[in-house]
Amino acid sequence: MSLQRLPPRKTLYEQAYLTLRSAILAGEIDIQERLIETQLAERFQMSRTPIREAIRRLQQEKLLTSDSNGGIYVTKPALHDAIKLYDCRIALEQLAVMGACEHATNAQLQDLEQIVVQSANLEKQTEENRKNRLLDLNFRFHRLIAQSSDNPWLVPLLEQLSSQTRLLRIQTLSDTPDVIKIHAEHCQIYEAIANRDAETAVQSITVHLKASQQRITHIFQQYELTVPSQTEALLPIQCPHCQSEAVNRNGRRGSNQNHKQNYVCRNCGRQFLSTYENHRYSPEMREHCIALHRNGSGFREIERMTGVNHNTVIRWVKAAQS
Ligand SMILES: [Zn+2]
Ligand SMILES: [Zn+2]
Repeated sequence: MSLQRLPPRKTLYEQAYLTLRSAILAGEIDIQERLIETQLAERFQMSRTPIREAIRRLQQEKLLTSDSNGGIYVTKPALHDAIKLYDCRIALEQLAVMGACEHATNAQLQDLEQIVVQSANLEKQTEENRKNRLLDLNFRFHRLIAQSSDNPWLVPLLEQLSSQTRLLRIQTLSDTPDVIKIHAEHCQIYEAIANRDAETAVQSITVHLKASQQRITHIFQQYELTVPSQTEALLPIQCPHCQSEAVNRNGRRGSNQNHKQNYVCRNCGRQFLSTYENHRYSPEMREHCIALHRNGSGFREIERMTGVNHNTVIRWVKAAQS
């Protein structure tokens, strides 16, 4: 009896899991939306038990998160996590391209080429679903490289990272401004693998993923996804002219509705208004920049990679040394 009942239950659960997962990864569930079991059950025409199990698994995969009140939401990745996600991808995908250079079959190389061609064609179109289709092609490209590597561990490991990347992309890619750059980078990776040139392939995948890491970092800063307002309020304001934190409040400026705090810098004596540019970066970003410096990156290079002003990074590094 129980043996007969097990397979269909598993199927229902799998179905709930896959349905919910693809809705999350397609950006169909708003990040502000609190997920309620009964509503999801109704929406996907399923009973509550498989939905509950699916939610649990998606929480384990970090695609869903619960807040302090127990509310379930789609995960909004933090900048620090996003940066580390790309670090993992860089390490694993270097292995993947090395394996692919050695083991990719001619059929796999043809499939890779097809994906590159298809995304080039998609670039010229302006259809509604373009963003999702481009993301699909990009993920297929990376997955196929892992599959071509003849390393059975890489595919499932990268799969989890890839769904996190997808979540990140769907939340941060309001449009696809960098499609041409991404396409050019994919072309280089494909060429290197097709030429079975492992050294160039490793170099190209590293350049590509580091560039993606930078693109994400910039988007985070642009949309202030990284700045939780509570933490922000605890952090000192910084002078935009000399990056000193020795600043005093100096009245407010502007109309009643749009008034801004004015500050005077005790270090250089100049005044400035509190705008986003003067806002402080998160402790994660500070740590990340200091770590980049320790690993040998120059201050200007760090600025290019993270968007943090090099003077700020110099100050952080000095403070960390003292
Ligand atoms: Zn890519
Ligand atoms: Zn100053």
